[in-house]
Amino acid sequence: NHLLVIDDLGKSYEARRRGAAEGTASALSGVSFTADPGEFITVIGPSGAGKSTLLRSINRLIEPTEGTITFDGRDITHLGRGKLREVHREIAMIFQNYNLVYRLTAIQNVLHGRLGYKNALAGSLGLYTEEEKLRTFELLDEVGLGEFAYRRADQLSGGQKQRVGIARSLMQEPKIMLCDEPIASLDPKSSRMVMETLQRLTRQRGITCIVNLHQVDFALEYSDRIIGLRAGQKVFEGTPDEATPQV
Ligand code: ADP
Ligand code: ADP
Repeated sequence: NHLLVIDDLGKSYEARRRGAAEGTASALSGVSFTADPGEFITVIGPSGAGKSTLLRSINRLIEPTEGTITFDGRDITHLGRGKLREVHREIAMIFQNYNLVYRLTAIQNVLHGRLGYKNALAGSLGLYTEEEKLRTFELLDEVGLGEFAYRRADQLSGGQKQRVGIARSLMQEPKIMLCDEPIASLDPKSSRMVMETLQRLTRQRGITCIVNLHQVDFALEYSDRIIGLRAGQKVFEGTPDEATPQV
């Protein structure tokens, strides 16, 4: 029983302008793979290959038009909003642009993930129980940011911001983490720290990570398995060793 089973997945977006000759274009088509607890999977491919469409389908930010997504034994392909809520607690998503509230501190951003924007904006850490604060410190520590807990998000480097985002998503205790180009804006050193942080979560917590990248070198270095997409189709799946002759 796999944690995630993607079967023949496809997505066609409606043409943006009606009357355009293109009609509906297929952004993703016939993609199948599985993922297990603790696996570190990277998805590589050029811009427009469908990487983001794939992750956003799994997270059900968008609804696939073909195929099925089974998460933890449950078909979530067409789940409605209410039922998606339960599933969303277990599926975390990380984006390229961090999505932090910049005038709040690191610790407030992480608490915000759990307690809601309004409470975080109220700003006073007094709103939170000692247990919540302790737990937040532990998470920031886990991503290597214990000493930056009280620093405002806008004073952190890009890599640190991304790790705050990761800590925030850990608040929900996800089984799987979907990361859409998490290091695309980062320098190599920060990228490495983010990739190492994600890898640690797979090894120590058994979280499954699926990470979209356009940097092949990082995929080769960190993945257990690499999935190659091109023009919406899976063109490769294998270990870094198997990928090396092809890239
Ligand atoms: P990427 O970072 O994958 O290259 P873009 O920067 O092209 O993606 O797209 C940014 C946003 O615009 C995304 O939310 C994407 O879904 C949306 N988008 C991309 N292409 C189109 C399109 N042809 N029509 C409508 N929205 C699009
Ligand atoms: P990648 O993440 O690999 O860059 P995407 O999944 O963003 O690829 O895009 C795959 C294809 O789908 C591209 O042709 C893109 O323009 C198109 N696309 C993405 N989002 C939208 C959207 N919201 N509406 C229409 N087309 C989109």
